[in-house]
Amino acid sequence: MNEEHGEGGTIPLDETVFAKAALSRFLRYVTIDTQSDHGKEATPTTEGQWELAKLLAEECRSLGLAETDVELTDHCYVIARLPASAGNERSPVIGFLAHLDTSADVSGKNVKPIVEESGGTTVVRTDGTTLLGADDKAGIAVIMTAAEYLLAHGEIKHGPLEFIFSPDEETGKGLPCFPLEKIRAQACYTLDGGARGEVETECFNAWKAEVRFKGRVIHLGQARGELANAALMAASFAAMLPRAESPEASDGRYGYYCLAGIKGDLETAELAVLIRDFDAARGRERAAALDCFARAVEAQFPGGTVSVESKVQYTNMKDKIDEQPCVRGKLLQAADNLGITVMEKPIRGGTDGSRLTELGIPTPNIFAGGRNFHSVSEWLSVSDMAASCALMLELIRLWA
Ligand SMILES: [Zn+2]
Repeated sequence: MNEEHGEGGTIPLDETVFAKAALSRFLRYVTIDTQSDHGKEATPTTEGQWELAKLLAEECRSLGLAETDVELTDHCYVIARLPASAGNERSPVIGFLAHLDTSADVSGKNVKPIVEESGGTTVVRTDGTTLLGADDKAGIAVIMTAAEYLLAHGEIKHGPLEFIFSPDEETGKGLPCFPLEKIRAQACYTLDGGARGEVETECFNAWKAEVRFKGRVIHLGQARGELANAALMAASFAAMLPRAESPEASDGRYGYYCLAGIKGDLETAELAVLIRDFDAARGRERAAALDCFARAVEAQFPGGTVSVESKVQYTNMKDKIDEQPCVRGKLLQAADNLGITVMEKPIRGGTDGSRLTELGIPTPNIFAGGRNFHSVSEWLSVSDMAASCALMLELIRLWA
């Protein structure tokens, strides 16, 4: 099925046009081990990300992008620019992002992808010993396939485009090195989501609180009425966190407290508490509640003191995305044009997109076809990956 799009040229809506090209790219990328590492401080945290980055920079050049339009930064960001087609130079610069690394928690070494037909569609899965790497090599394959298509089809009008492949999304160590000064995009889209139709423009507001306990120590033989045991103070504080508002007891739009760490002895103790909420005011109420718990523990343990220090980790991107409604609007329009039913769901976490949005570049997330991320049962729907590619091209056409 093809559909005329007037001036912008003809975009084949038949996603099978993209399936073969995207699949062969995907199968090539997943053989490179790009598992990131929480334990390393440098960005990127692993050597394999360099290998994939260099390959992608090379592929961008071989597609026909100018040498000067493809850059590999000191921190392993690939930035590739596709200049606007003639007459569209003044269109907004739009960026598309995918991340190079795979989850630090599951092996991505010696991935043996298995391509098979399942229920009339082509899927890719693993042999059950590693993850697949659809998160986010499906996104990379989508972007590269779309770029290849644009370069081969000069009749499709587009504005200036930036394709960005970023390191260490999974460890959070990539974004602090984001080359903001090199980026011209006014809006970006991450290709880092799951099933066909999934679009994400909202994520948690996140805080991390460090709670510190100082006890009053005395020889245990003379402790009666005198000792304030810091370890016990920490345990009492932990017991006050409402279990009904924990990650294991909540889903959908409900936020939570999560006890993320505890250590201590008689003299000092420390807790780490994560606070998550879609509603910033409600999140701040949770943070304020921690102060109340602290005062309550001090009252129970005379001589002991409790301090709470809460820091923002990331914020809900919804507000900033809403400030520029066309960023979400064009995405919904593109999906509608292609007959893709959009399912908008809030992310119960953060993404590079949410952090980029904080830096001033509104960045919604788009599906790329993978499922069961961060696990050995991860798999990819090839037709969903192809639909993602068609959506990206339609979006590019709308922005032009
Ligand atoms: Zn991802």
